[in-house]
Amino acid sequence: MKTVIYPGSFDPLTNGHLDVIQRAARLFDKVVVAVARNGGKQPLFSPVERKTLIEHSTTELTNVSSDIFEGLLVEYVEQQSGHAVIRGLRALSDFEYEFQMALMNRKLNEKVETLFMMPRASYSFLSSQLVKEIATLGGDVSAFVTPEVREALAGKLGQAGAN
Ligand code: ADP
Repeated sequence: MKTVIYPGSFDPLTNGHLDVIQRAARLFDKVVVAVARNGGKQPLFSPVERKTLIEHSTTELTNVSSDIFEGLLVEYVEQQSGHAVIRGLRALSDFEYEFQMALMNRKLNEKVETLFMMPRASYSFLSSQLVKEIATLGGDVSAFVTPEVREALAGKLGQAGAN
């Protein structure tokens, strides 16, 4: 039983993330999409909201689940009896940070391998940040996120606009 952990902010999940999740689900017995509770960023969605959106967007992938974690990723991977960590690589600009993180995680725990997956080329420009910016400006994000995420964005930004 091979379990892989896909960690990130997922604020919110995009079709790029989903593409990586689908690829990982074909290769591993179990994929845990792990929402990081900590991290320096000011998120739009709470960890529970992000986890719920991932769950509602992956109902057809029976070997995919979502969870929230905090603290060191390598410790979480061990707790989950994970065999590897998946990260997505969109472009060369992701590489330096991801390379540093992967080697640091290896330093912290030799047993945790990091695997990189590339999304479909048409998703290689997609980021949660860009999706939030487009949605904030009233643009149509339906090509970039699932219907569940689109509705959640509309709800959040509608609420924010009402304040
Ligand atoms: P973080 O805040 O840790 O960068 P994200 O939620 O933005 O987390 O992304 C989690 C992982 O998914 C990272 O490895 C990131 O490079 C990858 N990722 C983000 N967007 C895409 C995309 N469009 N295609 C493929 N991978 C992606």
